[in-house]
Amino acid sequence: MDVLNLLLLIFEACLYFGLLVCLLHWRARLGIGVMMTVLGVMHFLETYLAARYYVMTPFGMASPGSIVFYSGKLVMILMIYIREDAATVRQLIYGLLGGNAICLMFAFLLRLHPALGLTPGEMPDNDFLDQMGVLMVWGTALLYVEAVGVILLYESLGRWMGRSPAPRLWAASVLALAFDQCGFYAALKFLYDAPLSVFWASMGGKVFFACVYAVLAAVYFRWFASGAATARRFPADVFADLTYRERYDALLARSGVDTLTGVKNRGRLEEIGPGLIQRHLDTSSALSLLIADVDHFKQINDRFGHLQGDAVLKAIADALKTGLRNDVDLLFRFGGEEFLILMPGIGQDAALKAAERLRRRVEAHVSAGGAAVSISIGVASAPEGGESLRALIDTADQGLYRAKANGRNQVDGVPRTA
Ligand code: GH3
Ligand code: MG
Ligand code: MG
Repeated sequence: MDVLNLLLLIFEACLYFGLLVCLLHWRARLGIGVMMTVLGVMHFLETYLAARYYVMTPFGMASPGSIVFYSGKLVMILMIYIREDAATVRQLIYGLLGGNAICLMFAFLLRLHPALGLTPGEMPDNDFLDQMGVLMVWGTALLYVEAVGVILLYESLGRWMGRSPAPRLWAASVLALAFDQCGFYAALKFLYDAPLSVFWASMGGKVFFACVYAVLAAVYFRWFASGAATARRFPADVFADLTYRERYDALLARSGVDTLTGVKNRGRLEEIGPGLIQRHLDTSSALSLLIADVDHFKQINDRFGHLQGDAVLKAIADALKTGLRNDVDLLFRFGGEEFLILMPGIGQDAALKAAERLRRRVEAHVSAGGAAVSISIGVASAPEGGESLRALIDTADQGLYRAKANGRNQVDGVPRTA
């Protein structure tokens, strides 16, 4: 009987995988939304089964909802990631998370009705609504962690297991499902004092079906989608995609902050620069503008890589920021490796001195691969150097150009005579 059940479960797993992989394979014609909707509907059946429906297997008593359908869903999440990308699969992950939350909210509300059965004497299934409580909240949290985790594991394993998808899919899903079983059993133990045999039965079942799905995936990748997903992606980048990092970056950019260095961005300069300069001109008070450009920054990128280059930019921003007057001077990231500083109340001579101080500060505090990193600075002061943001930038740029031509790591600022 146990074996017969297992054979039937294997058949169900093959059918489930086969049908969903067809939807994935023909997503260009059907739209990926078809597959995602099917997964969403199956998610509901799976939750119901896991709460109510158990069968005897060679591993012990386990629910098809957990060992066949939950395992299958995690594998499908990974398959969508492999064939599409993180930006696509995150829609499913957040859809399931949001769907679960909404489901739970309505289950709670519906419980407030004095509900009737369809025929006299028959009672509605209130237990089911009740079971969508704590366990479902916990299950939803686990699902989110595992869906993100299984993808990150898949990418991380690429370093040890090579680029072909099926072995990595097997290892990533076994690890994620083992984690799931530990997390889910902890809740069962805490809530219902479930015996340890339940833990091992589902653990055995989940790992077994992860293997079944990996074999099916290997067949799919070998004969139907060879060459899929060989490009390497860094787990940190994948994580950024899965957590909508670019939306956060866009939000920061809209709020005027440069995401890499945390200083104000160019948009913010355009917003506040012209007014600030005009107010200083109107009241005849001094104001200076500095443009700092990193010397030979391309070489830093070329020798140590872009990430190290980014770290240098951050360090320069920090060195500049701490060398400025708090709440008075304004520091902006003007371009890739260029910073612009507005110094209200500071005239030409003082600005040249301040610029020299900043130049030394960067030279003393910032390094790449053991060698000091330097900047060149062009200085312009209003009104001699110009009477608008554009004009001041232009004058400072000319100073910067001269500083570069004269050997870099220096300050240059000659007043523009209008
Ligand atoms: P110079 O002394 O003449 O300024 O030499 P340079 O190599 O610094 O000059 P250039 O302007 O030609 O090179 C700037 C480089 O900065 C090119 C670009 O790849 C790099 N860059 C721009 N933005 C970023 C960034 O956000 N991160 C990193 N790592 N590099 C950047
Ligand atoms: Mg430059
Ligand atoms: Mg440069």
